[in-house]
Amino acid sequence: METRSTCGYCGVGCGVVIEHDGEHVTGVRGDPDHPANFGRLCAKGQALHLTMTPSAMRFRARTPLVRTARAAPFAPAGWTPTLEMLADRFANCIAEHGPDSVAFYISGQLTTEDYYVFNKLAKGLIGTNNVDTNSRLCMSSAVAGYKMTLGADAPPCCYEDLDDADVVLIAGSNTAWAHPVLYRRLEAARAQNPQLKVIVVDPRRTATAADADLHLAIEPGTDVALFHGLLHVLLWEELIDPAWIARHTSGFAELKSIVREFTPRAAAQICGVREEDLVTAARWFGHAGAALSLYCQGLNQSTAGTAKNAALINLHLATGQIGRPGAGPFSLTGQPNAMGGREVGGMATLLSAHRDLADPAHRAEVAKLWGVDRVPDRPGHTAVELFEALAAGTVKMVWIACTNPAQSLPDQRAVRAGLERAELVVLQEVCTDTETAAYADVLLPGAGWAEKEGTVTNSERRITRVRAAVPAPGEARGDWAIATAFAQALEARLRPGLPTLFPYLSVADVFAEHVKTTVGRDLDIGGLSHARLDESGPQQWPFPAGATSGRARLYGDGCFPTADGRARFAAVPYKPVAEAVSAHYPFKLMTGRLRDQWHGMSRTGTVASLHAHAPEPALSMHPFDLERRGLAAGDLASIRSKRGELIVPLAASDELRPGHAFLPMHWGGATLTGADAMGINVLTTGASCPQSKQPELKHAAVRIARAELPQRLVAFGQARDDDAVATRAALRQALSGVAYASVVMLSGPRPGVLVRAAAAEPFHAALLEKVDAALGLTGDDIACYDDPRRGIGRRLRQQDARIAAVRMSGDVGAEAWLRDAFDSGDDVSALRTALLTPGARPPGRRIKRSALVCTCFGVTEDAIRACPGDLAHVQSELKCGTNCGSCLPELRRLVAARPDGMAA
Ligand code: SF4
Repeated sequence: METRSTCGYCGVGCGVVIEHDGEHVTGVRGDPDHPANFGRLCAKGQALHLTMTPSAMRFRARTPLVRTARAAPFAPAGWTPTLEMLADRFANCIAEHGPDSVAFYISGQLTTEDYYVFNKLAKGLIGTNNVDTNSRLCMSSAVAGYKMTLGADAPPCCYEDLDDADVVLIAGSNTAWAHPVLYRRLEAARAQNPQLKVIVVDPRRTATAADADLHLAIEPGTDVALFHGLLHVLLWEELIDPAWIARHTSGFAELKSIVREFTPRAAAQICGVREEDLVTAARWFGHAGAALSLYCQGLNQSTAGTAKNAALINLHLATGQIGRPGAGPFSLTGQPNAMGGREVGGMATLLSAHRDLADPAHRAEVAKLWGVDRVPDRPGHTAVELFEALAAGTVKMVWIACTNPAQSLPDQRAVRAGLERAELVVLQEVCTDTETAAYADVLLPGAGWAEKEGTVTNSERRITRVRAAVPAPGEARGDWAIATAFAQALEARLRPGLPTLFPYLSVADVFAEHVKTTVGRDLDIGGLSHARLDESGPQQWPFPAGATSGRARLYGDGCFPTADGRARFAAVPYKPVAEAVSAHYPFKLMTGRLRDQWHGMSRTGTVASLHAHAPEPALSMHPFDLERRGLAAGDLASIRSKRGELIVPLAASDELRPGHAFLPMHWGGATLTGADAMGINVLTTGASCPQSKQPELKHAAVRIARAELPQRLVAFGQARDDDAVATRAALRQALSGVAYASVVMLSGPRPGVLVRAAAAEPFHAALLEKVDAALGLTGDDIACYDDPRRGIGRRLRQQDARIAAVRMSGDVGAEAWLRDAFDSGDDVSALRTALLTPGARPPGRRIKRSALVCTCFGVTEDAIRACPGDLAHVQSELKCGTNCGSCLPELRRLVAARPDGMAA
């Protein structure tokens, strides 16, 4: 059987066809009819069904779980008593401490209907604006930037604009990795139009930057200075559109007075780029028939996030590059439904259907639509503030849905202090093993991808149905249904005897009510319903009643949703990052995505093949910095910011400038499981943009030094009972508290689990026993070597004369050849003595490890380098890049770097 739905990861919003037998998901492929992807999926999307295997779902929540103390185990409970108990506790808290003593922290991965119910529950029923979302970490600067300049939170562009653009300016986005299917579209547009110029603004030479015609490798956080510098050149060289500015905008004079000082030389100096490159970029943009900007977290996750967005939009307004094919400022959304959350106003500073929380008339409209007396006027706590308020005790109870703040929020020490202090933490989740679950008092099982119904909106304002292909297991329910049932129980206490505010019998009913709130607004979808979407497929908003299609582009008439109908130039000053580097913290730490992982890895982290591209955590530094500090790739280093310390291995990368360092955002406390187990965000700062309240996750000042942890442990092997997720969990548990420990999936010829740990003192026998037990290294048939005096030990399990699992402690020098023997599956029965002898280097097949480039066909860098011919020939020989295409930028780079390479 097949069911059409949507990918649950990024904001490209690819349509998928889920293959299933009515009970289990068996496969997934791209929906050829979906206008976002026309059948394509990236590596993550192609592996969606693998996140639903029994192993991946090992820790699936199936019933409500309740515990009396955080250290106690959860016990199953029924839905009705659990929701009644929660309603009692929330009602009592509200009665004693007021509505702002409770809060909801929700997610851009919820459907629009889920979001709608939570928002109405908080603002309409309880009377608090304390409902914020992980979209605050992702898109709130884009919201504030659009509203500041264009008057409404509405991306004016569509994906087809890539086909019509002459210049594409990509700022703060590694689109090739973060939005791969959209990047395929850009590649196709470049192939069609060789004159198309791509400019990339990014401190790192990412895959996207390496592919560009011009890479402006700015210093972190200097984007506003760059955009002002570009505008300065546009003004100086008369490449602006004065007539369009006069007709459709206001505020240009104030902006001009600010950009006057951003001469190309001054701007280039601030940004650390070549003056001539800045001028070239401005000329390309200014001369373009159609100029399109794509931008994402590099602009948004910043203390100047709103200013960066606005300064980029200024360029489009100054040149009239908006509202026509191929032109406009196009914010790419990170999550599958950050847009839907914005549409329903599901944030602490927003109101339904793009209404203004500060406007009494707008609040009255929403109150009337909801049938309540009023909605609160004071903005609620935004994400970072919410956890500070929990720590301060002013917010006492928090309901978290479909997100993992104990991994993803900055300044984890502060976040976890808030979770610890909270009187009640309710977690609505699919699985029980996220970092946040450790702080939950109650865990409510939500339906996951392929199990739930609703809609999501992608980056181009296109609303797509999300459909259930299989039933949710056990008693798990759709998130909207959980929120509705709780709301009904709570309203029985807060407004007894009155008709329910939540009369929904189906998710379509929720959507229908949301539709009513949009009528007459800029995002009017009065013409849409679930039935209409089922009949006509995905549609862009606005789509008012009577319309036959949505609108592809906005503002083609030059009319903007502001009081005077004019777009507003934003005279924003340039401000540097929150944390300047110093003698004490001399490195600029940046964060970002890996190609094949998603957020905190609670889903993609369960799929072995998605680990192959970047198998282990590492902090990247320029080789010059490594050498200058006497460090080498593979060394363990201590990374310290003002907030905490993380120990992680080092990697050399010339994609960074000296003085910069890079750490992927995915490695949380579940993967870097030692010591405090707080992951990368123990380092990042909660300092936020004053307008958007989005924290500066992209930059922190750090110092980096060798971690003196001489005792090492390496263990690897096949997972027990083919249950890699359970084996990994047991290993993580065994290693908690060790100074450094990472536990990752092994992909490759023999999938399994790999552990690395390091400590100052020899590992305790009890810890080693737990590691051994997790990998099946116990029993009579296990080969053992122990030298307690030197703290050296080794365990080895063979199966059919092949290595099945190994643990080395103290001396791990044999890792390379034992890994070779494991991966090759060679018969090692003749090597029994050497297998256990520290220092032995028996002859054997050496496997030269090479980075994996193509996940779909398992093609490595070495294989690509060894294959002669141009790109087309390499692809025909090795098949790499011929399926999902996520590896194409790396593939092109590798082929072009060879003497005979001719990247087609
Ligand atoms: Fe999913 Fe990849 Fe498409 Fe994003 S680009 S929606 S992750 S398939």
